[in-house]
Amino acid sequence: MNPELQTVVGIDLGTTNSTIAVVQNGELVIIPVAGRPTMPSAVGIDPAGKLVIGQAAKNQSVSAPENTVLSIKRGMGTDRCVELGGKSYRPEEISALILGELKRAAEEHLGHPVSRAVITVPAFFNERQRLATQDAGRLAGLDVLRIINEPTAAALAYGAGQAGAGSKETLLVYDLGGGTFDVSVVRVEDGIVEVRASHGDIHLGGDDFDEALATLGEERFGAGKNDISAALPDAARRRLKGAMEKAKIELSDGPFASVREEYLTGTGHLETEIERREYERLIEPWLHKTLDCLQRALADAGVTAGELDKVMLVGGATRTPFVQSLLMEKLGIEPRHEIDPDLVVAMGAAIQGAALAGQPAPAILVDISAHTYSVLAVVGHGLFGEELGCCPVIRRGTALPVTKAELFTTAIDNQTTVKVEVFQGEGERPEENLRLGAMMVEGLSKVPAGNEIVVQFRIDLSGLLTATATEKRTGLVKSVTIDTAGQHRINLDTARGNLAALFEDHAPDRPRLVVLDPEDGDAESAETATVEESSILLASAKSLRGRAAKLLERGMAESDAAAVRASLAEIAPAIEARDWHALQDHLDALSDLLFYLED
Ligand code: ADP
Ligand code: MG
Repeated sequence: MNPELQTVVGIDLGTTNSTIAVVQNGELVIIPVAGRPTMPSAVGIDPAGKLVIGQAAKNQSVSAPENTVLSIKRGMGTDRCVELGGKSYRPEEISALILGELKRAAEEHLGHPVSRAVITVPAFFNERQRLATQDAGRLAGLDVLRIINEPTAAALAYGAGQAGAGSKETLLVYDLGGGTFDVSVVRVEDGIVEVRASHGDIHLGGDDFDEALATLGEERFGAGKNDISAALPDAARRRLKGAMEKAKIELSDGPFASVREEYLTGTGHLETEIERREYERLIEPWLHKTLDCLQRALADAGVTAGELDKVMLVGGATRTPFVQSLLMEKLGIEPRHEIDPDLVVAMGAAIQGAALAGQPAPAILVDISAHTYSVLAVVGHGLFGEELGCCPVIRRGTALPVTKAELFTTAIDNQTTVKVEVFQGEGERPEENLRLGAMMVEGLSKVPAGNEIVVQFRIDLSGLLTATATEKRTGLVKSVTIDTAGQHRINLDTARGNLAALFEDHAPDRPRLVVLDPEDGDAESAETATVEESSILLASAKSLRGRAAKLLERGMAESDAAAVRASLAEIAPAIEARDWHALQDHLDALSDLLFYLED
């Protein structure tokens, strides 16, 4: 049959971002818009007087908010018009521009016209709001076959309704987006998916978190200039908010985020660091509000937490680990988030579209981590001394590939070595889990207890786990790779060859990689590590000397040149004495110096 007639696209018309998907040859496809899977729901007129939609419009919203329309979804179903280029437009008209852009992207991607669509709306949308959405679709040249609820779409993407007659399931969909929150209880019976209850807050979302972080940044910026009262000018404040959104996203995968905004106010720079814990404290009141809504939705549906079969996370803001752990605590059931929470609603809409077109439902396959991976650390002090526990870095059910990091600290003063032991399993105690391997991190700074070590785990699609430990204050790094599937030892000879080649091609400024036998990271193999480490240090010395020579040749202030020469002079004796610790210190010093001079 003509694909044109068959295709029914699925559209998630979001407050912050919109997504379009389709089932093509039995497979679910997210259609990229301007190279990205989602498009900001923004429309604007650029300085040249041209209409811009999506990412370009979002970008200009910082410099030209008066010519940009954001969050138009809030106005759907009302007569609240917006100004654009000196004229006034209804919300349906602006939404039609967004839908039209998605339609165009789909046509370009599929190579044929697209005219039929399923569009999603929040479960709380009333009749007027639904009709307005349908009208926006018509204005964009789309025949809107059906308007479906966002939680229903999410449930469809997670396979609801596919079990057919006799099946019964109670699901919870927790959707935390950019500007709105809603939570719904969804009942699936005999293949029919239906929203039983829904609650939410139309003014609660990731946007609030960005605002709170911007306020924090503003305070620090003011405090740095001893002028706490100074509020930032609007444009600087908007820029800061954008930077804070990026920091917030970083905090979903790592324990801290650095924010550096140069010339925030003409001359003043902002440079600050935000810790995940600090961020969590900041957003906790909003999250508690979402839990209250959740309680009400359960009560309205006459369901207890214990009766839920599945909890699904939807919306970009649910990537925040704190959201996941609070829900887990509240409901006692691990929330599912393996399908990208930004895309899951559009996927469900496309599945509904395929069903309307008479196509079979596609299976959504995602690679997920089948276990939790953790690090052994002191978690408390009991009767018999220190209590050790497994602290998760990557949790079961996370989509692969994934990179996550957590912060740990040294337990005693002047602790120069830590042992990073990696475990697989859901238990809190090491004996309940499988020990995958360990590595020693040596040569840490002699500082009081509390020296921060960032432990990062990366799991790739073939199940290989790479654990990396970094001393935060110096950047000293060690890493080890473990095969989580077979737990085979890595082939040290191959690895050595690879590393040697790697260092020849891309010699780093600091010693970086040390491969240890993953099955036994204790004292004996630390020996091998040292041998390995020395060759890495030597490679690093060579590269730093090269960089220094180049700089000296280029010329610089005499005092700087003297500092570089003095630093260089310390390196050779350390190599001769095979004093690796001293060499490391000298290399670090030289590296810092070069970093500053090369800038
Ligand atoms: P909406 O449904 O309102 O259009 P989305 O589901 O697209 O919104 O969510 C957008 C929000 O998700 C934004 O506030 C964005 O900053 C936030 N977000 C996106 N990615 C992450 C992440 N990795 N961690 C935390 N928040 C994120
Ligand atoms: Mg959404």
